[in-house]
Amino acid sequence: MVDNKVLSSQEIFALEDEYGCRNYAPVKVALSRGEGVFVWDVEGKKYYDFLSAYSALNQGHCHPRIIAALKKQAEKLTLVSRAFYTDQLGRYEKFMTSLLGFDRLLAMNSGVEGGESACKIARKWGYDVKKIPEGQAKIIFAEGNFWGRTMSAVSTSSDPTCYQGFGPYMPGFKLIPFNDVEALEKELQDPTVAAFMVEPIQGEAGTVIPDDGYLKKVRELCTKYNVLWIADEVQTGLGRTGKLLAVQHEDVKPDILILGKALSGGVLPVSAVLASHEVMNVIKPGTHGSTYGGNPLACAVAMEAMKVLLDEKLPERAEKLGKVLLEELRKIPKDKVTLVRGRGLMLAMVVHDSIPAYDVIVRLRDAGLLTKTTHGQVIRLAPPLVITEEQVRDGANIIRKVFESFDK
Ligand code: PLP
Repeated sequence: MVDNKVLSSQEIFALEDEYGCRNYAPVKVALSRGEGVFVWDVEGKKYYDFLSAYSALNQGHCHPRIIAALKKQAEKLTLVSRAFYTDQLGRYEKFMTSLLGFDRLLAMNSGVEGGESACKIARKWGYDVKKIPEGQAKIIFAEGNFWGRTMSAVSTSSDPTCYQGFGPYMPGFKLIPFNDVEALEKELQDPTVAAFMVEPIQGEAGTVIPDDGYLKKVRELCTKYNVLWIADEVQTGLGRTGKLLAVQHEDVKPDILILGKALSGGVLPVSAVLASHEVMNVIKPGTHGSTYGGNPLACAVAMEAMKVLLDEKLPERAEKLGKVLLEELRKIPKDKVTLVRGRGLMLAMVVHDSIPAYDVIVRLRDAGLLTKTTHGQVIRLAPPLVITEEQVRDGANIIRKVFESFDK
């Protein structure tokens, strides 16, 4: 039995390896505590978390206000069937829609469910409002997208690791290159296109930032051809890029907005789809739902997580400190880090081919900073937005020294 015993890191690795589905290949570090920008392993070693669960922890680990809201609500009411009303859901929906300038909110759980829901809404809108002939609605996606692991999500993936071996794939989806307005315009002329779904900055692809003006053009073209623009801000949203929403960098508004991750400050799976009356009202009772979607615990936590973002001015902090981190990382010689890109505190470094990026991750871990590679030589950096300037500089110093250690 392992139930009450304090486990060593090695025992924890062995347990997951023996009893879990091996759907991840984690860096060998076993964590048991987190606070702000730091996490601790079971042996008590402290690390900077420069990944933040891919932006779910914008407010930092175990933010005291969010945990207090969780505890308070958990002692009162956690879940009822959506067959009934609660004193939390409507309050939360009003708060979020007023804050973000949408009419209605659909409450879901994980980010991928948010994406699935957005696609369902877009198809239904295509039939009910745009009058696309039944069964023909198309949704366009950008190559390099990542929005999760469900059958629909893998059906839109251009990454063979995600889709190979999982066919047959969902029909009615089409891929075009990211950051290509000509390809988009060509597709949108097809009258059976209901929507274009895109991340304002591609996260999993390695923090790929489109040209300035791309999102404005997406807005213009979707309006011109009566196609819904779905912005997947599960990762870019809620302060990460230096604005509350990444689309605000170009002062544009999508027809459908998907949020997740930091919506609960890393406490619970909470996602949301926001849209206008016209779009959201295509969903009628019984046509969509989820047992946990909109549960009172999630609503109370999400509301507090959003208030923390606003009260602590975390988007502004991301904007300011992102510049500091970018500047510091760009000082690393080009024969080690060929490129650093980022917006706000959503950054990526491209490691020179002479240094295996995975070895960098392992040395960073040993030096007390956790992050992960994506697509081979790209390392993503996304610390919690509660990080201080001193901690940003300290983290950058650790990274610089780790690269220097490859000289020896
Ligand atoms: N959308 C984007 C842009 C993401 O980065 C992710 C996850 O990384 C998702 C959707 C899926 O979110 P979840 O893992 O909560 O289902």
